[in-house]
Amino acid sequence: MNGNEKNWLLAQRAQRCVERLSKHRFNAVYLATSRDVAERVTPLLDAAATVGFGGSDTVHSLGLHTLAESMGKTVYDHNRPGLSFEETLAFRREQQHCDLFFTSANAISETGEIVNVDGIGNRTNAMSFGPGHVVVVAGYNKIVSDVPAALRRIREVAAPMRAKSLGVDTPCAVTGVCSDCNAPMRICNITAILHRKPMLTDMTVLIVGEELGY
Ligand code: SF4
Repeated sequence: MNGNEKNWLLAQRAQRCVERLSKHRFNAVYLATSRDVAERVTPLLDAAATVGFGGSDTVHSLGLHTLAESMGKTVYDHNRPGLSFEETLAFRREQQHCDLFFTSANAISETGEIVNVDGIGNRTNAMSFGPGHVVVVAGYNKIVSDVPAALRRIREVAAPMRAKSLGVDTPCAVTGVCSDCNAPMRICNITAILHRKPMLTDMTVLIVGEELGY
């Protein structure tokens, strides 16, 4: 498959995903490149005073924390280096009622569901209820056919890679294989499936035509 055909196929898949998410009342948009994300979220940042970030390699790689800070926003990023445990806890709590919350997704199905697994729950909670507006940014690599495929992707790809990147003491961070562990640092304690837009939360879902995150 040459580059053009691959890009065409991925764009078709992403468009199907956007159409189904839109039917499920998410404000879903396809962006061809990650360079388009900042322009898209700037009006949302303009309208927000407080901005929370769920742990997300995708969002971090796009520099949205820096953009929010450069606009003078109060940012709740518990992954900021140098924070004490108490400070990270306080930031996770502030995320629950900030004006604007950014996260990615572990998987988005072509059938229009957003699936995330969390170890603590600040991300899965905040994306369901609390913040005034939630923005989900996801590369095309997060797209799967349906919810069972989403759960499989999380177990086989997203969680082991996330565990490895965080350096947590879990079996998958060593072997790359999920053993449905009971490790104290298990990062898969909560599964949240957004079947439709949560009633009282505005949600923008940006599907980007690039590989982003795990
Ligand atoms: S359940 Fe445990 S082993 Fe499986 S992916 Fe999650 S942290 Fe890793």
